[in-house]
Amino acid sequence: MTQYPSLHMIIDGERVSGGGRRTFDVINPVTGEPIGSLPLAETADLDRALEVAAEGFRIWRKSTPQERAAVLQGAARLMLERQEDLARIATMEEGKPLAESRIEVMMNVGLFNFYAGEVFRLYGRELVRPVGTRSTVRHEPVGPVAAFAPWNFPLGNPGRKLAAPIAAGCSVILKSAEETPASALGVLQCLLDAGLPKQVAQAVFGVPDEVSRHLLASPVIRKLSFTGSTTVGKHLMKLAADNMLRTTMELGGHGPVLVFDDADVDQVLDVAVAGKYRNCGQVCVSPTRFIVQENVFEKFRDGFAERAKTVKVGDGLHDGIQMGPMANARRPEAMERLIGNARDKGAKLHTGGNRIGNQGFFFEPTVLSEIPLDADIMSEEPFGPVALINPYRGEDEMIAEANRVPYGLAGYAWTSDVKRQRRLADAIETGMVGINSHMIGGADAPFGGVKWSGHGSEDGPEGVLACMVTKAVHEG
Ligand code: NAD
Repeated sequence: MTQYPSLHMIIDGERVSGGGRRTFDVINPVTGEPIGSLPLAETADLDRALEVAAEGFRIWRKSTPQERAAVLQGAARLMLERQEDLARIATMEEGKPLAESRIEVMMNVGLFNFYAGEVFRLYGRELVRPVGTRSTVRHEPVGPVAAFAPWNFPLGNPGRKLAAPIAAGCSVILKSAEETPASALGVLQCLLDAGLPKQVAQAVFGVPDEVSRHLLASPVIRKLSFTGSTTVGKHLMKLAADNMLRTTMELGGHGPVLVFDDADVDQVLDVAVAGKYRNCGQVCVSPTRFIVQENVFEKFRDGFAERAKTVKVGDGLHDGIQMGPMANARRPEAMERLIGNARDKGAKLHTGGNRIGNQGFFFEPTVLSEIPLDADIMSEEPFGPVALINPYRGEDEMIAEANRVPYGLAGYAWTSDVKRQRRLADAIETGMVGINSHMIGGADAPFGGVKWSGHGSEDGPEGVLACMVTKAVHEG
């Protein structure tokens, strides 16, 4: 039986804790009770991590693709061996069903293996120049990266934040969410155990604003990689600007799902309901606004509510559970506020809408319909188990609603009309579009948004190139 591990930071390969440092209680979202005590970095810890990261970059930028591939493949193998422990720890910290945590491990395994191949394909180019001269364009690692990962994918987010810089030849200081530290430490440990030099990747935790201000102001750091809310993302970009850092920003979304009357409504419901309540809706690419053509609206709404009522909610460690608690106390509070505001404005509640029980952070799978556009939930990312279903007349109106919000991360559309599928792929203003599918990721596919959902990509070749700079060399 997996025990929740003791917590620490990893600086220069050493487990750092105690020593009078401040601590943060990690909470089990099933009970609301503490399960671990996390040490928080003092300024001296961050300075040491920075010094080590500078050394790590000097070492790793000279590594061969073979060395990088060996580390990434080795870490993938170890994650697979440790899958059950890693998954249980992620569920203990975050609450999601064990099956979803196991998938997170597999996402990391896929990404690390893909990047083990990608390190051999970081090609530059040679320009056409007169005989006897040479001009080349090459990619070089950007330098030490400060990477901040949130709690909603406790294993997958740190995996992305670590794999890309390591594949590119950078060093990285990871500050994963204080709510889910053991999962992040488990992923980093796989890399270190696979032979990654200890200076190359480190993990700190702390008061987020203190850590980010200190790291982003340092001349050592050359890139910021952040996943989290748009509000925090804008704040961090301003800090990054003062140090002219490169940035990859993976921010919030408000996923539109366009459902046309020529789609197979039952098939859409099977996919959409599972997608909506995955990880309690705490997913940046969660399907959120269901934009339904009016003649199938009632069938879709009623079918959604019927299915939502059958979702099995409980402790993610137990068999058969389809939805765990929300990850922290802030989320059910946000649900109550957003759903209350929508109902005050006239939205109809079809199922759910309340907390479950009086311990932990459980919330009912919820369906709202006919929500006025001025309700907060129609513009603010709900990040929770609530489906928003509204009727629309036809394609133009539906596209306008899809693009109404400033977010542009993932969009989905369901229609059997092939020409319309192409029009929608062009018209929907998001970084990722799923047509008749909610599968929009993959180790080889760029993951990222446009507009207020951020910029730059993770995963795919784009994720590694985002940790590199170009240099043009002209030889006379
Ligand atoms: P938040 O905005 O306070 O924090 C989001 C993440 O950013 C957390 O992991 C947090 O530790 C980190 N963070 C906060 N302030 C920071 C700072 N100054 N420097 C560095 N990191 C900092 O919100 P929250 O309550 O944790 O989550 C709420 C909202 O965040 C959600 O509603 C959702 O919109 C967004 N969110 C998005 C993602 C995503 O995958 N894009 C993940 C988690 C949360």
